[in-house]
Amino acid sequence: MTRLAGKRALITGAARGIGLAFARAYASEGAWVAIADIDMGRAQDAASDIEGAIAVKLDVTDQASIDAGVAEAVAQLGGIDILVNNAAIFTAAPITEIERADYDRVFAINVAGVLFTMQAVARHMIDRGAGGKMINMASQAGRRGEALVGVYCASKAAVISLTQSAGLNLIAHGINVNAIAPGVVDGEHWDGVDAFFARYENKPLGQKKREVGAAVPYGRMGTAEDLVGMAIFLATDEANYIVAQTYNVDGGNWMS
Ligand code: NAD
Repeated sequence: MTRLAGKRALITGAARGIGLAFARAYASEGAWVAIADIDMGRAQDAASDIEGAIAVKLDVTDQASIDAGVAEAVAQLGGIDILVNNAAIFTAAPITEIERADYDRVFAINVAGVLFTMQAVARHMIDRGAGGKMINMASQAGRRGEALVGVYCASKAAVISLTQSAGLNLIAHGINVNAIAPGVVDGEHWDGVDAFFARYENKPLGQKKREVGAAVPYGRMGTAEDLVGMAIFLATDEANYIVAQTYNVDGGNWMS
């Protein structure tokens, strides 16, 4: 399968989890992939395991790091045709306990990180004049608020909104911007989510995971691999007429 033959992709937060699954899937479809992450140890391990992949240091909270990471990917891969804005962190707390520093950190990564990485790559794509594809990782958490998850939910609602604005703005340059809204996806990220709920809902570790998995209409939590079909499709020319959309890939949790 070579649906992405010769394409060059930069994926933020790809050292593990969903981003890593996308890196593998894109490479298996013939793409060259830059695994861009703050965790260079894991990014390098991941890249050494994937044919045609490189590791790039990129901290989405730091403009100089975004610019340097994008420039390095362009230099090493020869350009960027596909950007996946995947890096994000989770946080949870009741409204009365949210700390400003936590809010600032989540918005710096989940929102400003998405915006300014899109901006840096859009400038490159516009200069090159060949269009491109951008995929932002939103979440079902961006579709409605949750009692203990105010900051993360708001950050993912912002990703959906930025996807709409950037999608409408950049399609004039042949750049399709769309988003994926996963539901609950098993992995290290959700181990952290589970720990937050254990603390705030007084549950044993692992219980929240079992509950959310059982509540998915499909019958189980998602896996990173459940998302790769949409991530590949949105990166191909088959998605050329899809603009500013957010697709739920969540086993039926949310309908819109
Ligand atoms: P993860 O926590 O496993 O991986 C996140 C990656 O981002 C890590 O490799 C981390 O090092 C990197 N990262 C963190 N801060 C960074 C920074 N400042 N700059 C660059 N990289 C940074 O998460 P995941 O489960 O693979 O989730 C991937 C995406 O999907 C995220 O946007 C997440 O919000 C979204 N999502 C996940 C779920 C889920 O249930 N796992 C559900 C909905 C949406």
